[in-house]
Amino acid sequence: MLSNTKTECSECGKIIICVHRRHKTLQYCQSCYQRLFKALTCPSCKNIVRLPVHFPNAVCDNCERLKPCIRCGKQGKDVVRLSKYGTVCNSCFIYFTTPKVCSECAMESRRYRRGTDLDPNAILCERCARKNTHGTCHTCRRYRKLLQSKDNSTSICFKCYSLGAIPCKRCKVLHPAGFGSICEQCYREDLLERRGAITVNLFATDVFRALFYEFSQWLAANKGILVASIQANKYAPLLQQIENHWGQLPSYKELVSRFSVAYLRRFKRLIDWLSEQKYLKTDAEVKTWDSETRIIEKQISHSNLTETIELICRKYLTSLMHQVSTENLKIRTARLYMCAAIGFSKVADRNHSQELNQSALVKYLKSAPGQKASITRFVNYLNLELHTDLHLPTIAKTNSVRIKRERKLAEKMYKLLSRAMDHDPGKNMEWTVLSLQFFHGLSVNTCKSLIKSSSFQEVQDGHEFNINNQAFWVPSLKYAAEHIRNQTVDFDNVKLLPMTRS
Ligand SMILES: [Zn+2]
Ligand SMILES: [Zn+2]
Ligand SMILES: [Zn+2]
Ligand SMILES: [Zn+2]
Ligand SMILES: [Zn+2]
Ligand SMILES: [Zn+2]
Repeated sequence: MLSNTKTECSECGKIIICVHRRHKTLQYCQSCYQRLFKALTCPSCKNIVRLPVHFPNAVCDNCERLKPCIRCGKQGKDVVRLSKYGTVCNSCFIYFTTPKVCSECAMESRRYRRGTDLDPNAILCERCARKNTHGTCHTCRRYRKLLQSKDNSTSICFKCYSLGAIPCKRCKVLHPAGFGSICEQCYREDLLERRGAITVNLFATDVFRALFYEFSQWLAANKGILVASIQANKYAPLLQQIENHWGQLPSYKELVSRFSVAYLRRFKRLIDWLSEQKYLKTDAEVKTWDSETRIIEKQISHSNLTETIELICRKYLTSLMHQVSTENLKIRTARLYMCAAIGFSKVADRNHSQELNQSALVKYLKSAPGQKASITRFVNYLNLELHTDLHLPTIAKTNSVRIKRERKLAEKMYKLLSRAMDHDPGKNMEWTVLSLQFFHGLSVNTCKSLIKSSSFQEVQDGHEFNINNQAFWVPSLKYAAEHIRNQTVDFDNVKLLPMTRS
């Protein structure tokens, strides 16, 4: 145990060039070794060996090696290394070494290689060292050192290269030699069985063990052994929760009300199987009811309303639910009404007065003009129950809406122009529809029906459309592309007016 590192003797503190003896984390100079290590009988093997007199229970190195690994507890032939901290097995020894920084990727690694062709002092982590030589074998899909295949088209591992295809030890089907002695199908079947054998211990009763086993077999038959071996265990937690809570399979309604539709969706294949086997009767109505009511509840609880406004919302919800059960109101529609009511309440809540008043309503409808129909019922409810005097404002299409629409059209047109080099009749048509909307403010449907009825004629540099004796000219895609290249068309300022035909 000699070393070239310059360190201090753990006993006398003298700087030592050569450590003469190590004992666990301590190191001694030659004179301290002579003084402290005496020939004694090892308490374990009874041999005469030099043992440290200042550690009364010390045993010889050979006996030390027979102790279990301090990391994993393994004991036996493989446990042969003595680290600073005690006996360590070969597999665990790597964790007691100091990590080094890789010269290439600068990551710390305990598994590394020294020296490259260019630099003998370089340190390469395993990943960098294998980068150029290793990869996924084209035939057996294992990560190995690769060779070129015989026809030089692909990279394959040495086993696949030299042995080619071999018969599977179990089913005798030919498979790539690199994969191993059994084929992937047999391996996956084994894996599914092994995993299943461990997972069934989650269940307390034979009924649920049998259910899980049946399900994994069904999964293998319907989705393939690969999917089954990887995913079967994913479904066990739901079965376990069902067993813990009910001890038997519950009705779909009970299941949904405890776990929610969204949670059950994660176990879709299990639910599909349960209903296919008639263990469970799924009900679309229950499903819709659960997901809609949960969405409403989530919206209310996440909106952080003040107590008074939240109370109003909850009362409104109760009245809506009453209408759902007695009138012909669908739960989904009720949710949309509720969504609008919560939106309005949030705006009102943020207002200075924190009241559901007219100014809050106007503000809300300005930000969400599409909600006018949905909010009507809430407004009527407030007027009736709280005697407010709210009325729905008429909202004209604001300037900002028009500007937004025009900007969107211009963006689409620029995109088309940038690809105008390929002469595609579909693109020309798209261009014409866009430019009729952009330059003349016509609706999409009018443009399309104009083109469909061919009520246009080709004129110089574009097309002329005719509506009620008015001619609308639009430039052709080619013409516009040429001008945009010469920067003579500025979309923000161009407006073409219809020419009245004489
Ligand atoms: Zn010393
Ligand atoms: Zn011994
Ligand atoms: Zn170990
Ligand atoms: Zn590296
Ligand atoms: Zn096989
Ligand atoms: Zn291979």
